[in-house]
Amino acid sequence: MIREYKLLIGGESVDSSTGETFDDINPATLENLATLQVAGIEDVDRAVEAAEAGFRVWSEVPAPGRAEVLFRAARIMQERKEGLARLMTEEMGKVLPETRGDVQEAIDITIYAAGEGRRMFGETTTSELRDKFCMTVLRPVGVVGMITPWNFPIAIPSWKIMPALIAGNAIVFKPASDTPLLTIKLVEILMEAGLPPGVINIVPGPGGSTGKAIVQHPRIRAISFTGSLDTGKWIMEECAKSMKRVSLELGGKNPVIVMDDANLELALEGVVWGAFGTTGQRCTATSRLILHEKIKDEFIKRLLAKTKSLRVGNGLLPETDVGPVINKAQLEKIEKYVRIGKEEGAAILVGGNRIDPGLPGYFFEPTIFTDVSPEMRIAQEEIFGPVLSIITVSDFDEAIEVANNIKYGLSSAIYTENVRTAFRAIEKLEAGITYVNAPTIGAEVHLPFGGIKGTGNGFREAGTEAIKEFTEVKAVYIDY
Ligand code: NAP
Repeated sequence: MIREYKLLIGGESVDSSTGETFDDINPATLENLATLQVAGIEDVDRAVEAAEAGFRVWSEVPAPGRAEVLFRAARIMQERKEGLARLMTEEMGKVLPETRGDVQEAIDITIYAAGEGRRMFGETTTSELRDKFCMTVLRPVGVVGMITPWNFPIAIPSWKIMPALIAGNAIVFKPASDTPLLTIKLVEILMEAGLPPGVINIVPGPGGSTGKAIVQHPRIRAISFTGSLDTGKWIMEECAKSMKRVSLELGGKNPVIVMDDANLELALEGVVWGAFGTTGQRCTATSRLILHEKIKDEFIKRLLAKTKSLRVGNGLLPETDVGPVINKAQLEKIEKYVRIGKEEGAAILVGGNRIDPGLPGYFFEPTIFTDVSPEMRIAQEEIFGPVLSIITVSDFDEAIEVANNIKYGLSSAIYTENVRTAFRAIEKLEAGITYVNAPTIGAEVHLPFGGIKGTGNGFREAGTEAIKEFTEVKAVYIDY
């Protein structure tokens, strides 16, 4: 029996008004994991009403009291970690060690945000006038709409939900249609931990209808969105119409520079896992390898051997290194870019085809292009799959120019043993994150996460920065 999930509104499981459903498919086996009801405009409206009621209750709870709910939720997640990770591998495809990491990230951000409940300071300041006291206080924004992608099915929702909750907001949440179950499990855990009804409401459904209804809802005060650049641009335009606050975490085309003085073994590990971890479906995935010409032949030889040794298959099996891609559309997009790369004159070093590991799902070979020039589409556009483009450069300045010649600015990395080169790269790389002697992937919850240029609009997730997304600053003047 395949379970059908209804909407979660006001703490109740309720039927949608649309009568429509969609299926949640395992990308490795194509098995149907669950069926979900589609929320329509009317349902989003009900969810906003429930969130407004939830907000009235939750915003009155002192932040350390809210933190207690988060601490309890983190403990429950820890107890259920293995089950959540296995479900995530079934729902999204990535290998078990990665889905365990995804759940751990959610636990860590929950604990971190709970700690913020005792650290949400405003400021006190002087006044131009006598007998006047001035200060700032942080207030919750109100009802926040959240829309997330499928590649980190519990970590990304947690990055948004936990800081929003600790700051006293209420939420209307639309999960990615490819991975709704993990969000539902997360919210069930929060409710079990004592979150009052209505504080989070889940309205699954397609981005183009349910997501749109959230973005355009007049009483939602802010949108927190993670996803592609095109969707982000549309959301920003829509939010401008109603002067809604909007935070955007968008795509990446992340470079790793390997200099001629790099520790090549270390760089090799970083490049392979940066490019092919999560089947290349990370916003921070290494998609451009900028290689110094002096070590090019040696590095490519080692990279080829290592890439050929990767085993593609079902992420639940311990021998698998690389799982499936998320869906048929994504598989076809990767194939399209492989065709484009060939037409542009790049050479395939390895991969380039679908692969059949004995399962009906969406599997693609880890793929590397050489002879790539910086302006080619495969070097400029986000493919979001296991495809790496190698660009050769002759010195540091050229490496930085190539790295920065891109519309995105999320993550970046440099491998070098020279401290001056490392610090120059930190200064020069146009990105929200720079790693030195480490891959472009692997965020930690106490550091701000986000990008510049086409990757975002200035907000950051994680760290203390995340609180800014979900609070308004109020200036207070007191005459005494
Ligand atoms: P997407 O197509 O933009 O979808 C993201 C979310 O937006 C999904 O929930 C989607 O719903 C919804 N959506 C689509 N169209 C919408 C619309 N018109 N109005 C409102 N919501 C809409 O992106 P994706 O393919 O799922 O995710 C991959 C992208 O996310 C990549 O570009 C990746 O780099 C980026 N990403 C960025 C970060 C970061 O922190 N910077 C992290 C992870 C991923 P459906 O699921 O129903 O389509």
